[in-house]
Amino acid sequence: FQVPPAINEPIKSYAPGTPERESVLKKYKELYNQKTEVPLYIGSKEIKTGNTGSIRPPHDHQHEVGVYHKAEKTHIEEAIKSSLEARQKWANLPWEQRAAVFLKAADLIAGPYRDKMNASTMIGQSKTIFQAEIDSACEIVDFLRFNVEYMTQIYEEQPESDSSAWNRVEHRPLEGFVYAITPFNFTAIAGNLPASAALMGNVAVWKPSDSQMFSAQVIMEVFKEAGVPDGVINMVMGDPEMITDTILSHPDFTGVHFTGSTDVFKGIWSKIGENIHNYKTYPRIVGETGGKDFIVAHNSASPKVIATALSRGAFEFQGQKCSAASRTYIPKSIWPEVKKYLVEDIKSFKIGSPENFENFFTAVIHEKSFDKLAKYIDQAKKDDQAEIIVGGTYDKSKGWFVDPTVIVTTDPKYTTMETELFGPVLTVYVYEDEKFEETLHLCNETSQYALTGSIISTDRYAATLATEILQDAAGNFYINDKCTGAVVGKQPFGGARNSGTNDKAGSKLNLLRWTSPRLIKETF
Ligand code: GLU
Repeated sequence: FQVPPAINEPIKSYAPGTPERESVLKKYKELYNQKTEVPLYIGSKEIKTGNTGSIRPPHDHQHEVGVYHKAEKTHIEEAIKSSLEARQKWANLPWEQRAAVFLKAADLIAGPYRDKMNASTMIGQSKTIFQAEIDSACEIVDFLRFNVEYMTQIYEEQPESDSSAWNRVEHRPLEGFVYAITPFNFTAIAGNLPASAALMGNVAVWKPSDSQMFSAQVIMEVFKEAGVPDGVINMVMGDPEMITDTILSHPDFTGVHFTGSTDVFKGIWSKIGENIHNYKTYPRIVGETGGKDFIVAHNSASPKVIATALSRGAFEFQGQKCSAASRTYIPKSIWPEVKKYLVEDIKSFKIGSPENFENFFTAVIHEKSFDKLAKYIDQAKKDDQAEIIVGGTYDKSKGWFVDPTVIVTTDPKYTTMETELFGPVLTVYVYEDEKFEETLHLCNETSQYALTGSIISTDRYAATLATEILQDAAGNFYINDKCTGAVVGKQPFGGARNSGTNDKAGSKLNLLRWTSPRLIKETF
């Protein structure tokens, strides 16, 4: 079969006066003022347990937009059971039928559900319409469509045969159920982690982040309407430890598809180790975790280009992308100019609720994140080796607002050069121009992570040297660009070291983790 070619979903502009702007704003207002209830999705059932958690917009934390229902242990056991019951039929469904279901989901999101996906992401995760559009409309659709294309490539690739033996590979799904754990920061990742495993014929129990419930429910509605059969993807939420313990101690647990923090992922890895004798098969462990992403500038680069890469790379979506630039190395000779443009740019950001489309910057996700950021900012105010040149202020009266902050440090190993803060704080280290090579080594050695990084340079030798010295420092490395904004189908995404297993989201490599190939040799 020839599948429809995957093409990146075009980004809509939402410019003033366009019908799409009016329409998403209408949906935003509608969702804001109706109290949504998010049930557990287990098999064919939508369960309201009555034990609820509150859903509040991070930019307006006194306003409740809905509640989500929390699971008991028995619900998790039921979700596992439903997935295993659904497995037999789903795993044996011809692949083109599975593909059709997810292509339909992509079309529903690109069309009738686009406003609801974007509005729920804007409200629940405080994304501006532009950040929502590239995530909950375009990227999720791209994942769904490109994965179908990658799946067919996987199935088409067959071993050599000759007249005496016909060798063929059948990509079976894993035997058991997959556990998908997803983060708040990308609605696209939330949808992709259960969907990519399910596309390959697996069944999943999916635990979205407590801070992404609002858009998670819309994803589930889309999956249902697209025809994902009952039990193939079950959505559960509640006490994360209880959920994870219940799942990881089950003999049919067969893999985890994870995006989230390094600590949680390591905890999962250890628990899998503890349970290893109980499983029927070795579980697949696929994770994308923390980052301390960098931009290194060379003195051949334009100060304006550097400043733009920094302001966009560090502060879009309040710095809450795993890929966000949070440390940078700038040569002394051009720092005054870079600083001028950077500060100017940041001061021009409009800050507030995403309902106002002029705002570039809104609130951080929750109180815990707000408190952590405030603590590091306050510490920087006290430390001699740190100077805050812009921002450094925060206000939690209405929402979790932390202003875009730039710290300049004289110590290249200063705490905010090393520690992941996951928010709008960028730390700058200014280096002597002649110490470019030394600085590259410093950059490589400073972080336990290796997710994304950039070199900005018009000098080809400098760019080449950086590419070489930083070869293990980033799974996604950018030359003359910011370090965020990977596009499915173009820049498969993932990192190594403490940033993950580097199984590149949106790639054949990722889908291969969700198959258990059977080789069949037939002789004549
Ligand atoms: N793929 C996103 C980017 O390149 C980041 C994904 C993440 O935050 O996990 O910006």
